[in-house]
Amino acid sequence: MAENQVGMFRLLIASRNPDKIAEIRELLAGLEVELLSLLDFPEFPATVEDQPTLRGNAAKKALEAARHTKLICLADDTGLFIHALDGQPGVLAARFAGEHCSYKDNRDKALLLLKGVPDRRAEFRTCAVLAAPDGVVTFREGVMPGRISAEELGANGFGYDSIFIPDPGDRTYAQMTDAEKNSLSHRAMALEAMLPVLHELMETK
Ligand code: IMP
Repeated sequence: MAENQVGMFRLLIASRNPDKIAEIRELLAGLEVELLSLLDFPEFPATVEDQPTLRGNAAKKALEAARHTKLICLADDTGLFIHALDGQPGVLAARFAGEHCSYKDNRDKALLLLKGVPDRRAEFRTCAVLAAPDGVVTFREGVMPGRISAEELGANGFGYDSIFIPDPGDRTYAQMTDAEKNSLSHRAMALEAMLPVLHELMETK
């Protein structure tokens, strides 16, 4: 476990995904908090993400982690909703191409299903949840409309970044620097909306 920095507010990012943790760390870099993640709690069993909504899964992840660690926990659940695919992969974005698939398998499946389809509209949605050991504190959401590119473009980022072009513009998230993506992304919007709550919590601790 990470060592406690005396007097600092501790916040646990309820994720083991190193890509997501790195992005959230950057987005919260201005806060005077000691940030932990589930990588600091290897004994904690992974939350089963079986809820039908982003909100349900994010709340489950944050609450289970908060109850186990007795810390205030921040979870996010993100989905990619592609219009021409009736909103697929949606909440199931991580497992679009199967149970143990890679990020690339998921991108390949999306590009294949959209081959020759003129309607490329899609949106990323993130639901961020802050939970305390005794219950959910609050929810915030971020939505980024955009479109799916015809092929992979760019090498930065993770997940569907190299096939998603946020509006307005013509570059995928993967063609942006981390700082650029973090200045406008779905996750940035959700976490920015959460900042006032975090500030309030830090003041009352
Ligand atoms: P999760 O359930 O919130 O962990 O996210 C589901 C899946 O969405 C991940 O496995 C990634 O494939 C994808 N994803 C989440 N956030 C992003 C992002 O910011 N960019 C691209 N893909 C993402």
